[in-house]
Amino acid sequence: MTEPLDLKKTVNLPRTDFAQKANLGQSEPARLKKWKEMDLYAQVIEARKGRDKFILHDGPPYANADIHIGTALNKILKDFVVKTRSMMGFEAPYVPGYDCHGLPIETLVEKKLAEKGKNKNDLPVATFRRICREHASTAMNNQTRDFQRLGILGEWETPYLTMSPEYESSTARLFGKFLERGYVYKGLRPVYWCIHDQTALAEAEVEYKEHTSPSVYVKFPLKSDPVDIDAALAGKDVFLVIWTTTPWTLPANMGIAVHPDFDYSAIEVSDAEVFIVASELSKAFAETAGFAEYEEIARFKGAKLDRLEARHAWLDRTSLIMNGEHVTLGEADAEVELDVRFENKSAGKSGTGCVHTAPGHGADDFHISKKYGLEIYNPVDSAGNFTAEVEHFGGMNIFDANPKIVEFLRDGGMLVYSEKYQHRYPHCWRCKNPVVFRATPQWFVSMDEIGTNAERGMRNAESDAQVLDANDEIQDPKSKIQNTKSLRRQALDEIARVKWHPEWGEGRMNNMFKSRPDWCVSRQRSWGVPIPVFYCQACDEAIADPKIIDHVADIFAVETSDAWYARPESELLPEGFKCPKCNSADFRKETDILDVWFDSGSSCVAVLETRGETLRFPADVYLEGGDQYRGWFNSSLSCGIAAHDSAPYKQIITHGWVVDGEGKKQSKSIGNVTAPHEIINKSGAEILRLWAAAVDYTEDVRCSDEILSRVVDAYRKFRNTLRYALGNLDGFDPTADSVPENEMLELDRWAIASLNEVAAKAVMGYEGYDFQSAYHALYNFCTVALSARYFDIIKDRLYIFAPRSVERRSAQTALYTITDTLCRLLSPILVFTSDEAWENLPAQGVASVHIAEFAKAEAVDNELLMRWERLFAIRDEVLKALEVARNEKEIGSSLDAKVVLSTDAGTTRFLLDYFDQLRYIFIVSQVEVHEGDSMKVEIGKADGVKCERCWNYSVHVGDFKEYPTVCERCADALSEIERSATA
Ligand SMILES: [Zn+2]
Ligand SMILES: [Zn+2]
Ligand SMILES: [Zn+2]
Repeated sequence: MTEPLDLKKTVNLPRTDFAQKANLGQSEPARLKKWKEMDLYAQVIEARKGRDKFILHDGPPYANADIHIGTALNKILKDFVVKTRSMMGFEAPYVPGYDCHGLPIETLVEKKLAEKGKNKNDLPVATFRRICREHASTAMNNQTRDFQRLGILGEWETPYLTMSPEYESSTARLFGKFLERGYVYKGLRPVYWCIHDQTALAEAEVEYKEHTSPSVYVKFPLKSDPVDIDAALAGKDVFLVIWTTTPWTLPANMGIAVHPDFDYSAIEVSDAEVFIVASELSKAFAETAGFAEYEEIARFKGAKLDRLEARHAWLDRTSLIMNGEHVTLGEADAEVELDVRFENKSAGKSGTGCVHTAPGHGADDFHISKKYGLEIYNPVDSAGNFTAEVEHFGGMNIFDANPKIVEFLRDGGMLVYSEKYQHRYPHCWRCKNPVVFRATPQWFVSMDEIGTNAERGMRNAESDAQVLDANDEIQDPKSKIQNTKSLRRQALDEIARVKWHPEWGEGRMNNMFKSRPDWCVSRQRSWGVPIPVFYCQACDEAIADPKIIDHVADIFAVETSDAWYARPESELLPEGFKCPKCNSADFRKETDILDVWFDSGSSCVAVLETRGETLRFPADVYLEGGDQYRGWFNSSLSCGIAAHDSAPYKQIITHGWVVDGEGKKQSKSIGNVTAPHEIINKSGAEILRLWAAAVDYTEDVRCSDEILSRVVDAYRKFRNTLRYALGNLDGFDPTADSVPENEMLELDRWAIASLNEVAAKAVMGYEGYDFQSAYHALYNFCTVALSARYFDIIKDRLYIFAPRSVERRSAQTALYTITDTLCRLLSPILVFTSDEAWENLPAQGVASVHIAEFAKAEAVDNELLMRWERLFAIRDEVLKALEVARNEKEIGSSLDAKVVLSTDAGTTRFLLDYFDQLRYIFIVSQVEVHEGDSMKVEIGKADGVKCERCWNYSVHVGDFKEYPTVCERCADALSEIERSATA
């Protein structure tokens, strides 16, 4: 030897460009740019051409504001679904979409106009709609930028927009389809109404909040002869007492409902006055109203009161007494919330069992009044003011009128009692103002009736929403469509066919469709798809004809539905069209637009079918937040049935809300909001994605700085795992250097068996949309099996043995398989990091991990895993003893130690099979195994001298002339290294 050997240079230290520090804030945008340049999405789709398709259909977020943490969670979960299916080998396209029409944009644009001193009503509708369109485009572009930043691949250049010409045309056509099927009618019915926004609202557009209302008990004088009820009432002044929290509905009172089977009491509270209330509530009523003494002078069933007459509390009008099963005496239940005038159904202890009935202002009121033939009377205009005909209060805002009506009743001696009342009351989810129930002419989709178009055209709604029994079919003798199931029945059948994750979704959707009223699809607004119906100016006939609608839809397909506002009727109707009833050629257009839920529900045809080369009907999965049981899941189901007699989805997945670290709702005013762009800028989108994988999304999901910092720690563990593996694969050529599995060291084969086990678990989690279980399996594998065990043990082998020795190559072969598999398994979650690691992994066949697929499942060698579990249990005991010795300064590094193990005969025999490897498994210099009674671990000083190269102790250091400071193992390695250097 001419020069002394530099021992440090003979150690195989790890080397990789995969940095320890992720620097995601910079590296993620760079990778996104690269993906865009290589058109990664197209490459992934191309790689799966001809395979089975898997369609996740994107529920369109509202193109209004920037994304928040809930939207981010939603999109990330969708990306998990798409990417896992793609990795399973499906062609899994992702076509994102945006919901562009609707009230929030109108409101915003109105506000902006107001700032410039302009009013919406002064602008042509077409101009107003153009501004709305521009606003939606801007918001959509911002959201697209943010969603892409999350690492979500898809058709971002060509998302679907509910305001695009093709889409609007499909929406109009689908309305025609509903008409054709006989589901649509126009009728006067009470609907949720926002007096601020002056439009009807869907059920999904109201939210319940605490609200204080006046609670009043009002006397209605009995007009009929009291003797008809009971002889004891002869000559008395008898009143029915009603209770309401909406005094403003009293001018519209047309009747009083009592339950036919309940007992009612006539109680005398003074010499002259007798009140009729439900017997069960009479005591509570007397207490509330402050009657010190009262006497029950008669008791009778509610049936006795049927069709008797009362007089309105102050108007010269009869109030008909009716028998209704909807009258209750119990506590309010959730169902009751569906009714604004919820005192109708139940008022707990507050009611009287005599229910004020205003058919124009309540659903139950409407139904019973129809039955009894009362007028559907609504004296409230669209802005919430009483019409002029209302005595004393005409022109007054209804909420302003509330206290005045109470005082008026008091002055007139008709008020029994009043107080303030706190209850949950429906509010408009857009403008947050309290809403009302108001009867107006609207277009409805009937849940229960099927008629021909001609019959349904302009008739009033008369059907009660009813719950159908299984197999109940509508057989309307007048209908041309025989034996066709109602929309409700079909929906219930489809709900049973769809898969629900979590499973409770089925019950929830089922209940929703069992009880939902007819769907009011008309809105009195401008920014949406116009209802493509004409009215004859001469005879008022409604031209609601699918063929005419198709003609209009053809125009929309070219010009968007702006054409409805820009063109006269004659240019929208087929040339020479005449009224089928009176032959007139003079028409006017419907001014209402379609409910935005009709818009988004149409996506099952407007997107799934118009993009037939990419997508198909039905989709495999719809995935949204739980609010969509009332919203998109709901309207899509009706739309799918109208279009194809089928649900548009095979599976529904729902996620919960994002709440703060304590489980409280996130809100700007509390300051507990976790904004996605802040998290991304600070830690990287990868951290948000990892968080989304780590939580149980089927429930409400917590997010806070502290939670995110734990996610950052977990991320580091994944990153360090990949880095360790990549560093030790420097220069490894899997084709030339791999060791066949049967020649690998047993520990390395154990690592592969563990990998196969975790891969099976992770893929099973992915298949069941249980990302959390996949995450946990992968996390535990990286931290326990790899980091704490395998990597710890093989470090010595990788560093010390000659580079091409079978010992080192065997470990590298395992490491290579592990890294390759981990990159694939992690890729749906850690989209950026897995791809970065993939790039640093030698000899990859494809340019991105996202083009690759999950490896096919390998059989797991359970016998091998069990043997090593036994070894690792013993190792844990040894590590504990080493820790004690280190703390007591008996040893420094574990390599200073010799372990003396005493074990029972069986364990001793088991350990002797592994004797040569034990020192490496325990990471000590020497091990002795003795047979004893029970397990005992003793730690002593290792024999011999410390090897300068590997730091193990050996009694042979100094035996080798050429390498005087190293052990026998290093001497072999060094001569091998020098031999290959000169070869
Ligand atoms: Zn509103
Ligand atoms: Zn006509
Ligand atoms: Zn050595």
